[in-house]
Amino acid sequence: MNTRARLPLSAAVSFALFTATLPPAAAQGNEKALIEDLVAANHILVDQAVLDAYGHVSVRNPANPQHFFMGRNLAPALVTAADVVAYDMDGNAINAKPGFTHFLERFIHTEIYKARADVNAVVHSHSMVVIPFANTPIQLRPMFHVSSFLSPNVPVFDIRKAVGGPTNMLVGNAAIGKALAETIGQNSVALMRGHGEVVVAPTIALVVFRALYTDANARMQAQAIASGGPIVFLDAEEAAAATKGRGPGARPRLGTVEAQGFGAMTARTRSVTAIRFSIETLVDG
Ligand SMILES: [Zn+2]
Repeated sequence: MNTRARLPLSAAVSFALFTATLPPAAAQGNEKALIEDLVAANHILVDQAVLDAYGHVSVRNPANPQHFFMGRNLAPALVTAADVVAYDMDGNAINAKPGFTHFLERFIHTEIYKARADVNAVVHSHSMVVIPFANTPIQLRPMFHVSSFLSPNVPVFDIRKAVGGPTNMLVGNAAIGKALAETIGQNSVALMRGHGEVVVAPTIALVVFRALYTDANARMQAQAIASGGPIVFLDAEEAAAATKGRGPGARPRLGTVEAQGFGAMTARTRSVTAIRFSIETLVDG
């Protein structure tokens, strides 16, 4: 039985900083390395409880910007390189293996990539610590320098308003995906009322970083609200200064050591997988 303890967030980030010295996979056009990073991203975000049985991570193919890579319809803890599928900007799978099924919500990814040429990686999660900020008027704002990318704004996508009536809450077609992309605008994160969040970045490593620290910020902000005092957030100038230096090229890729270290499934992720198997015929988020 694997009893490995959950690695602290600081360990994940320390390695991300270390890998900043590695050459960027995108610049090399190294598809194999990019897919290794995508697999590692899935496992890191499961390990850090940003993803559970659901959610997905994608990365644009630098060799063909009209395609992106994402795991097939599978719990992110289980994704291996063999499960990664290329999709076009209509959400069609390219040369997928027989029997593979695909996430209904791949339109989140297609429409953001179409709208944002600067975005090369997308995370969609149902993170439970951010949903309170999606379902209330309380805005998620940067609590500390590391989450400065939450400035100037974390918009909230309300699918009811986008569609004009009740839905099953899922981004199940391109029109809803387009409305979500419009809501994100030029921001790094959008919350989705009653559903979760979308995080975008110019690299796979940076999108993992942002997804981790969006969660961390939500936990800290909730704690500060519970303490009852007025909260002093980073102001726009502080956030802009803190974000400087974490743009494209910073932390360019994840590493194979991370893939091995985080790839070993913990007892927790195995139990999540079991839940997935029991309800996957009911929900495809
Ligand atoms: Zn979803």
